[in-house]
Amino acid sequence: MRFFLLIFLFIFSLNAHAEVMRVLFLGTGTPRLDIERFSQSILIESGDEKLLFDVGRGAAIRMSQANIPIQDIDKVFLTHLHSDHTLGISDLIMTGWVYQRTKKLKIFGPTGTTKFIYHLKKAFDEDIKIRTAHPESLDPSGLILETNEINEGLIYKKGRLEVFAFNVDHGGGVKEAYGYKITNGEQTIIISGDTNFSENLIKYAKDCDLLIHEIASAPKPLIKESAKIRGLMNYHTTTEEMIKILELTKPRLTILTHILALGGIKLESILKTIQDSTENKFEINFAYDLMAIDVKNKFNIYSVNYSKKNK
Ligand SMILES: [Zn+2]
Ligand SMILES: [Zn+2]
Repeated sequence: MRFFLLIFLFIFSLNAHAEVMRVLFLGTGTPRLDIERFSQSILIESGDEKLLFDVGRGAAIRMSQANIPIQDIDKVFLTHLHSDHTLGISDLIMTGWVYQRTKKLKIFGPTGTTKFIYHLKKAFDEDIKIRTAHPESLDPSGLILETNEINEGLIYKKGRLEVFAFNVDHGGGVKEAYGYKITNGEQTIIISGDTNFSENLIKYAKDCDLLIHEIASAPKPLIKESAKIRGLMNYHTTTEEMIKILELTKPRLTILTHILALGGIKLESILKTIQDSTENKFEINFAYDLMAIDVKNKFNIYSVNYSKKNK
């Protein structure tokens, strides 16, 4: 009897604590070519699970810098189909396969994802033909791509780990853009994707642990005189809107990414404006490529750029 009780307590204790979620920023920039900031990609790891949100330029390179085997990625969640969020997918599909991905690759995203992935794979027909034949003889099962065009709601669940998609308002002719809520039953992470001020995001992000939000900022005179800059500001979240979002959602930690700082505006001045304008002193900072965060009662923030350390 006592033996069974011990087994029960052991299993219970295994289930009682959720796996710590680790967030790894693989790309924190915009379409702009920048060696320091590749375009959007965020990896969330929890136990054996690896969830990749967007696959911007260079995501595969950043994974290699962080010692993440590319062939281990088997789930991708796209916020929308802008190229700065998708340019790295062909690298993930093909290089992951060349390096022996054994599971099928599941790709969740908005309407159009299936067509997009179908044509990407088709573009590599010749390479696939060569590599599946002698002498490489690669297993074609590593190239099975399963696409899921999503709606708002729960889209993935494994144990206590859940991923919800929610609609955001990207504007600029983008009909369908999603943010994601990821939870392990204890902590909650929100990824805004690209969005203007979004009431729906506020609904999902209220009292979250970690809010990862995009930001765009430019000096006021420049916004006034340039229609192009005004347009960009309308597709994204301005500093003033960010202040409102923080007041309404009150995250424990906020990390700004997809950093669009125009007209020479400095990142420190964006942070200062936010901190000076909010009543509560929010913990907020900018993401950088290869920044990692362990999401738990006390956040642990560190860099995982192993390529620099080895020099
Ligand atoms: Zn976009
Ligand atoms: Zn973008």
